[in-house]
Amino acid sequence: MKKRKWKYIYGPVPSWRLGSSLGIDPISGKGKICSFDCVYCQVGRTKKMTARRKNYVSVANIMNEINSLPKVSIDYITFAGAGEPTLAKNLDKMIIAIRNIRKEKIAVITNSSIIHLKEVRNALCLSDFVLLKMDACSESSLKEINRPVYGIKIKNIINGLIKFRAEFSKKLAIQVMFVDKNKDLAKDLAVLIKTVKPDEIQINTPLRPCAVTPLTKADIVKIKNEFVRICAHSGIKVISVYDSIEKKEVKPISSPQTIRRRGKPI
Ligand code: SF4
Repeated sequence: MKKRKWKYIYGPVPSWRLGSSLGIDPISGKGKICSFDCVYCQVGRTKKMTARRKNYVSVANIMNEINSLPKVSIDYITFAGAGEPTLAKNLDKMIIAIRNIRKEKIAVITNSSIIHLKEVRNALCLSDFVLLKMDACSESSLKEINRPVYGIKIKNIINGLIKFRAEFSKKLAIQVMFVDKNKDLAKDLAVLIKTVKPDEIQINTPLRPCAVTPLTKADIVKIKNEFVRICAHSGIKVISVYDSIEKKEVKPISSPQTIRRRGKPI
């Protein structure tokens, strides 16, 4: 039988945050399109930088692949990919279409860069679990770590996150990727993120191959302890990539598409 070629779907992958997760890339059938060019990005430098929302891939193309899925056991269908999924103007329609035919929960992993836009928050509100990136707490740290496209401002991101929390009652996590450049910002980031009131804070460091070295387990434990101290009695759960969270055994339906979106495995 001829092997099915997948263009927009990848995984399922074992995720310390999502269990078994089937990825959907709603914007980049080819190279990475993103509003950031993070120093630690596992899929390399951003070739096309933009904050402009448009229909990059049709809902029909995504659904064509969803409808052809073999029997897979997954916890989440996750919009992520090699780029920023909220740049897809039709993200809301994709979520609705998938929800109509699949029983799994839907997650979106976003870099938060355009969360100040009401239509982006409306689309995210259609999902069950939103994972927001927050690696910086000032204009200079945003520029140094995430290297955003012109026009993205930290104050808009922070205001957008606060508004989104007020609008979204389902599970919300904030992920902080710590590298050498922002490890001294742990306290400031913890204080800031506590005000957003997520359900969970995920302390991460880039363990897959990329342009920077990950922090050590000792560094991450220290950072996690700082977050736990600052968030004590807030009800916010703090987890880290070095915690011994059991990863599920899953086999991707397409290894090349998975590596292109996630980088090489550790
Ligand atoms: S890590 Fe995510 S947000 Fe950062 S450049 Fe890569 S794809 Fe974009």
